Amino acid sequence: MTFYDHIAQLSWDELGASIYAKSKSDVELALSKESCDLEDFKALVSPAAEPYLEEMARISQLKTQKRFGKTIQLYIPMYLSNECQNICTYCGFSLDVKIPRKTLSDQEIVKEAETIKQMGYDHVLIVTGEANKEVGTDYFKNAIRLLKPYFSHISLEVQPLYRNEYQELIQEGLNTVLVYQETYHEKNYKLHHPKGKKSNFRFRVETHDRLGKAGIHKMGLGVLIGLEDWRIDSVFNATHLQYLERTYWKTKYSVSFPRLRPCAGGNSVKSAISDRQLVQLICAYRLFNEELELSMSTRESASFRDNIIKLGITSISADSKTDPGGYANPKENLEQFEIDDKRDTKEFSKVIEEQGYEPVFKDWDLGLQ
Ligand code: SF4
Repeated sequence: MTFYDHIAQLSWDELGASIYAKSKSDVELALSKESCDLEDFKALVSPAAEPYLEEMARISQLKTQKRFGKTIQLYIPMYLSNECQNICTYCGFSLDVKIPRKTLSDQEIVKEAETIKQMGYDHVLIVTGEANKEVGTDYFKNAIRLLKPYFSHISLEVQPLYRNEYQELIQEGLNTVLVYQETYHEKNYKLHHPKGKKSNFRFRVETHDRLGKAGIHKMGLGVLIGLEDWRIDSVFNATHLQYLERTYWKTKYSVSFPRLRPCAGGNSVKSAISDRQLVQLICAYRLFNEELELSMSTRESASFRDNIIKLGITSISADSKTDPGGYANPKENLEQFEIDDKRDTKEFSKVIEEQGYEPVFKDWDLGLQ
């Protein structure tokens, strides 16, 4: 039994109907509860909750401070390769996008590590396109070995792997794996992912089960907001999270909120989410789950990121480059998507401090503070 068997029993349309049928009284009931269930989460992401945003933000802030204190954890992505064997309709690394392709050598990885270390980071997120031949398990094992002397927390955002491959990477020192489902709409998933291994919906949606069985310390979930109805996708994602927490209870979890961004391959925003609605979604997750790490990238604007610091986000990237080798060699233009918040680490840390929060560069989950 995996999550695929679980969602096979769920209907996208019926779930959507039940979200859009939520009323003011359903929202008020959710807001009055100490702990929210999935029905409450549906109410909190529904249109009926939009007038309650201030109240949601107030509760979200309180709950976040209770569990995480006034701290914001900082991490940085390190792109090792933009090779990709998939076609995704929304991504600048897609196989059909004619850009120069690059995979970092050992020497280049070390150079990037040294540059990032000097910027003050202790938590690095390895990112690649999905290309098993150029960047497979052996490449990742080697990269983790090279990076381990520099960083105490290593996360991975690459193609979904098999359980034994995850086990090998965990043995090398891998701490966290992020895999985003993009959308849980199985039929339309195929339209957004017409070619390559990623077009296998089932293999992707079962990745977190393989990770749980491999014994990963932390795993991240999320949908690509904008591909399909963000409310329905978010309820599927919350259902997935709840299933995983109950099945693999030793693992920690995080949820991210990537919105579609302009990129070399164009994009296909179908269900736009406003800034207010994104705040609503973030607060809904916090009310649903007090323990959850909520993460935000530099895809978002500086002003949005500054405002969200106090409302529920606990982990945030800064000073990011989305092209391989972009820190040590910033001149090449091979980026996956345009970043919006281009402030450097010092500047962004100052913003966090000015809001009364402490920027943290180590991972408290690993007891390394
Ligand atoms: S989203 Fe990932 S898999 Fe799809 S084209 Fe971009 S890098 Fe490749």
